[in-house]
Amino acid sequence: MTTKTAVEYETVIGLEVHVQLQTRSKMYCRCSSDYANTPPNTHVCPVCMGMPGVLPVINKQAVEYTIMTALAVNCEIPENAKFDRKNYPYPDLMKGYQISQYDMPFSRNGWLEVEVDGARKRVGITRVHLEEDVAKLIHRQNEAGETYSLVDVNRAGVPLMEIVSEPDIRSPEEARQYLMKLRQILRYIGVSEANMEEGSFRCDANVSLRPMGATELGAKVEVKNMNSFRAVFRALSFEVERQREALEGGQTPVQETRGWVEDTGQPVSQRTKEYAHDYRYFPEPDLPPLRLDRDYVESIRVRLPELPDAKERRFMAGYGLSEYEAHLLTETRARADFFDACLSPLSGAAPEALRQRAKAVSNWMLGDFARLLNQAGIDVEQAKVEPRSLYDMIGLIEQGAISGKSAKAVFEVMFKTGKPPADVVRESGLTQISGEEEIAAVIDKVLAANPKAVDDYRSGKEEAVKFLVGQVMRETRGRANPGMVNDLLRQRLMS
Ligand code: ADP
Ligand code: MG
Ligand code: ZN
Repeated sequence: MTTKTAVEYETVIGLEVHVQLQTRSKMYCRCSSDYANTPPNTHVCPVCMGMPGVLPVINKQAVEYTIMTALAVNCEIPENAKFDRKNYPYPDLMKGYQISQYDMPFSRNGWLEVEVDGARKRVGITRVHLEEDVAKLIHRQNEAGETYSLVDVNRAGVPLMEIVSEPDIRSPEEARQYLMKLRQILRYIGVSEANMEEGSFRCDANVSLRPMGATELGAKVEVKNMNSFRAVFRALSFEVERQREALEGGQTPVQETRGWVEDTGQPVSQRTKEYAHDYRYFPEPDLPPLRLDRDYVESIRVRLPELPDAKERRFMAGYGLSEYEAHLLTETRARADFFDACLSPLSGAAPEALRQRAKAVSNWMLGDFARLLNQAGIDVEQAKVEPRSLYDMIGLIEQGAISGKSAKAVFEVMFKTGKPPADVVRESGLTQISGEEEIAAVIDKVLAANPKAVDDYRSGKEEAVKFLVGQVMRETRGRANPGMVNDLLRQRLMS
């Protein structure tokens, strides 16, 4: 007997990401590009208002940031690049066209490594190019119920970089990982705040399905308007299922653009291929083509900071951290820098000493420190604790000056006040008790108060000793040296 097996489909996703660059001025004029929290239409001039006859000027910093990004995602930088006019017939760009890059972008052929389910894979990057952002339209309704729109030109002309991926992504989760990695790199190199909720990092997601093993791509659907990573994931998951159902029902999905509606959790069709744009690109006549000198490109390359993957490898090889620890500690550049700074007093120390201290710093950073940061709702760069203080505090534990338990209390005070650990210890009287006589006195008191536990121990119940150690620690508010308590207690019980 044979059963007809259902066709398996493969998900194909390619992402176009638009990133606002953190330059002081706009892309083609001298207006400030800081448009958030400014009154509408105050950062404007004839150039970004699209007046006829004005001349745009290329923002050098934006070009540099774009090449920097391209290098960080392993792109080739061609010798020549140019800007092109892209027809754009909407009211949010006053000129009626956008100055973008068509066939000679600043870069091509890069890749980014993502990790999904423990497996690493490369996602190809088609190109990274530079263009300009559009104005903001605000839709309103008057008392008569008529709708109208307001235009705020402050955002028009802000440098916008576009990063286009190859259709190499195979699941909504892989897409999410790709976006997180890209955002991490952009923040590491400091070219953008890359904040999706605030609109400085925006993603259009293209998705199609094809029978498993097929080499041709199916018709793609482009989903827009997601403003969080979660929304991208949900929109893609929804779209994959919709297309699968269509294919299984014998229909072929059509190429179209859909807009994500957060409230309903569904992408709604906006336009199909018949209405696809005719961009009518042509070389921008008001801007010169650019020659990208090799020396210039190399001068940017050498200024690239150590990137997350390289940092993670160095933390594992150099400090002996696990992949898990190294991954978390390199999540942001500030966190990784703090970690490095905590260990800088040990540069040149024996590898064993370095690894031991690294492990302790990692435990504190991922444990108590992370918890306190989380509670305070801040990042490591806003914390009052200095790397040197964490280093010194761990030193105090190692020397036996404070117990591991007191250290937690000491660290909380350091976190609140930014004081160095030695001061905190002195002021709070948390110095570890290592005096034999002092500890012995407490032990005698505890033994006298707990005759039952003493009997239990003497009749062979080994656990009773743990209880007694606990009582001594309680009596001393955790300040007794636990090793000494253990030794002295056993001595007393044996006699
Ligand atoms: P367009 O000119 O419509 O923007 P492109 O061919 O330039 O289309 O591709 C835009 C994005 O769509 C790229 O990220 C690319 O990887 C992705 N893409 C192209 N074809 C497909 C497809 N069939 N399925 C999924 N993604 C695709
Ligand atoms: Mg597109
Ligand atoms: Zn301007």
